[in-house]
Amino acid sequence: MRYVSTRGGVAPIGFAEAVMMGLGTDGGLLVPASLPRLDAATLKAWSRLRFQDLALEVMSPFVGEAIPRDHLAALIERSYASFTHPEVTPVIRLGDQWLLELFHGPTAAFKDVALQLLGNLFEFLLERDGGRLNIVGATSGDTGSAAIAGVRGKSRIHIFILHPEGRVSPIQERQMTTVLDANVHNIAILGTFDDGQRIVKQLFGDLEFKRELSLGAVNSINWARILAQMVYYFYAWGRVAAGDPHRRVSFAVPTGNFGDVFAGYLAKRMGLPVDRLVIATNRNDILSRFVHTGRYAAGEVYPTLSPAMDIQIASNFERYLYFLLGEDPAAVRGLLDDMARTGSLAVDAGHQAQVRADFDALAASDAETLDQIRATFAQSQYILDPHTAIGVRAAQGQADTICLATAHPAKFGEAVTQAIGREAPPPPSLQGLLEKETRCARLEASADAIRAHIRATLAAASQ
Ligand SMILES: *Cc1c(COP(=O)(O)O)cnc(C)c1O
Repeated sequence: MRYVSTRGGVAPIGFAEAVMMGLGTDGGLLVPASLPRLDAATLKAWSRLRFQDLALEVMSPFVGEAIPRDHLAALIERSYASFTHPEVTPVIRLGDQWLLELFHGPTAAFKDVALQLLGNLFEFLLERDGGRLNIVGATSGDTGSAAIAGVRGKSRIHIFILHPEGRVSPIQERQMTTVLDANVHNIAILGTFDDGQRIVKQLFGDLEFKRELSLGAVNSINWARILAQMVYYFYAWGRVAAGDPHRRVSFAVPTGNFGDVFAGYLAKRMGLPVDRLVIATNRNDILSRFVHTGRYAAGEVYPTLSPAMDIQIASNFERYLYFLLGEDPAAVRGLLDDMARTGSLAVDAGHQAQVRADFDALAASDAETLDQIRATFAQSQYILDPHTAIGVRAAQGQADTICLATAHPAKFGEAVTQAIGREAPPPPSLQGLLEKETRCARLEASADAIRAHIRATLAAASQ
């Protein structure tokens, strides 16, 4: 399988190169040059596989020659051994819907499904092909801890994660700072999340520094993350279809950066019998406005009870535009130019009809989010986290819908307490965090201070 950029400026590359490149060198996102098409017999066979075996089947054509099949199988086994549920991503019945629980990994949120695999892929490719990787990123909470959990203890990799001191929840802070592996470097900056993002941008903009230290991003746009996320769409369908390869289902997906729901879109393009993909957003509703109007216009970012979805520019959206526009990089560049010039882009009537055929969308307010947590708890004694609650709300009244449960409710105790008057019992990975030993540097919020700290830390580590 070869990969190309949505902007057309990367000569076709293989899987290993695409994973190590992350963002395309032309600023675009990497996408497969073609998609496998599945027939009913294949789907039927896949519907009976355990999660890890299914992952091997789904990923193999996309990995191609880059990694021998038995190595890939071992890598997948290792990645999902860190999940506490035997099914990895179980599907449960919730009223007249289904819930796909994606939060049984080490940080209790769905990003583990992709980042546990990505950490192992990085390690395997660096050991085989040589090189090293220093990941630098800023986090407002969830992504940082999942990225750290993905690469802790891995050889040839260091990770530096900046968080704003005192501005992430105590649990989120401890999920990062209690990881004591020698290659994990937490930095509390005396500033805001925006300061952290600005500093990371400055460091990546310093091309000399970037090359010298082999800097890599937290890779929210890495192709391997999409690939890992496609697996559970097939898995969930298999649990519900129970051997009937023509059984159709819909998915409701709590959405921020469009990565998760895009994985579902690709699964559908490959032939998974999906009726509707429902984009569920909070008040930051750029995507739902796009589905309803065909216009994509950034607005202000509002803080909500579902903070992992407080996003205005969805970084994976460009991948969808590429497929919507018939895999035509020039057309993608045209729309992105509009966006850069005017702050918005719009698709024509024909494409807008296609968008509506591809997706439904619903945005929920904080009050509606709390109402849904309350209603589901009253009905089923099941506690939803605020992100999942938005998905469940979007799925309401639609038959045969599987809602993606993206976080464990114990991670968002404040919202849950507001809704039902108590917190959810924490899973083992979140227990005892406040008593554990921590390690974290405190630095002023300046690129110079962070740059010097990264240099000194790496120099000490290589002694
Ligand atoms: C990251 C995240 C999301 C949004 O996923 P995207 O791939 O950015 O759309 C939803 N819920 C939770 C809990 C998350 O951490």
